[in-house]
Amino acid sequence: DKGLEKSNENLFSKLGKAMVGKSKVDEEILDELEEILITSDVGVDTTIKVIRRIEERVARDKYVSTAELDQILREEIMGLLEENNTEDLTDFDLPKDKKPYVIMVVGVNGVGKTTTIGKLAHQFKQAGKSVVLGAADTFRAAAVDQLILWGERVGVPVISHGMNTDPASVAFDAVKKAVDMQADVVIIDTAGRLHTKVNLMNELGKIKRVMQKFIETAPHEILLVLDGSTGQNAFIQAKEFTRVTEITSLAITKLDGTAKGGVVIGISDQFKIPVKYIGVGEKMSDLQVFNRKEFVDSLFK
Ligand code: GDP
Repeated sequence: DKGLEKSNENLFSKLGKAMVGKSKVDEEILDELEEILITSDVGVDTTIKVIRRIEERVARDKYVSTAELDQILREEIMGLLEENNTEDLTDFDLPKDKKPYVIMVVGVNGVGKTTTIGKLAHQFKQAGKSVVLGAADTFRAAAVDQLILWGERVGVPVISHGMNTDPASVAFDAVKKAVDMQADVVIIDTAGRLHTKVNLMNELGKIKRVMQKFIETAPHEILLVLDGSTGQNAFIQAKEFTRVTEITSLAITKLDGTAKGGVVIGISDQFKIPVKYIGVGEKMSDLQVFNRKEFVDSLFK
């Protein structure tokens, strides 16, 4: 778990410094905590919520020891993280009653969408699943090419009609292929052009409708990819995308080499959408199924 640990390195170590020589949680410690949460991109609203709850506890119990603060914080953060309803499906397992399982992936350019799809394909394949990819981000030639490259690298079929073709037609063929070959999972890349919101909404709507010709319940998951190192931008994108379509899960990338793991806490709390995957590097294996407990533990290492 190197990536994750690195991501949260020192998140609460400053708090430890503020507590040196103290046995009781006081205002100074809470101020320090507030600053830590803000600077690690937890977001203002969530930070205020956490601080307020701890203040209430201090007021109620009169005395909260600094030793207790760790435990209280762990509980608070755990409570802020949306439960991932597939947490029991460890190691890239898939629900057995949904085959093929259809994942539609959304996100703006540069957040690591293509890489995340490639990593997912790899991890599912490693877990013994058959995978089909659909290159429905037809707006960018690079996106199509990159997905094809990932398909070759991982060894899974990629359905592509090239650039500027109809995304819904690509999605249709990808799902059809998955049904025909009885694949376990089909992952559809889509364009993330947020500046043309109505177009994007229509495009995603159409993609969904054509999938439903094969599988009424598809897509089973609409995964929004966010770059965890971009702080407030990730919040803005989450807000915009939740307006455009119904996001069911999040993948937060680039959590390696940043002490900004707080985005995970804030986004999950603000949007009530579970974080399902985290990206912790550029390699194929650098994608983890998000585990709340492991994540919270990593904040305190
Ligand atoms: P897209 O435009 O959203 O499809 O973005 P790409 O998948 O092309 O990724 C953009 C850049 O981010 C590439 O250089 C990736 O290697 C890099 N990247 C993606 N995910 C991660 C991650 O979890 N950690 C790091 N360090 N880099 C990542």
